[in-house]
Amino acid sequence: MIHKINHIGIAVSSLKDQIPFYRDALNLTFLGEETVSDQKVRIAMFQCGEVKIELLEPTGENSPIASFLEKKGPGIHHIAYETDSVEKELETLKAAGVRLIDSQPRNGAHGTKIAFVHPSSSGKILTEICEPGGEKE
Ligand code: ZN
Repeated sequence: MIHKINHIGIAVSSLKDQIPFYRDALNLTFLGEETVSDQKVRIAMFQCGEVKIELLEPTGENSPIASFLEKKGPGIHHIAYETDSVEKELETLKAAGVRLIDSQPRNGAHGTKIAFVHPSSSGKILTEICEPGGEKE
């Protein structure tokens, strides 16, 4: 069951340039940086109440974030809904006829399990389903 928005993913050209706005101007709690080599991105996470802000910087030209930046420029990249079980959520979505990018969960940042819905099924908004890992923040 989906019970809240876990985070909003924002594509940026440079973490170094954008981190000060979220950390020092908005005064959000900076949770740290992490490279997710699977997805060729470097991530900076901030906490804002129950919701996290995930800044995504490409680590190479063949990164999906690099092609997003090229096509659309910096901006909101995806919305991530939190569930107790990505596997179960994927079954529900499949049964509802929703097209998926990931039919199986894959590894996200901070030990999470994630899967993406295809934008053609979600009104062009890239939608992530995520299940928190055991890791404490
Ligand atoms: Zn995400």
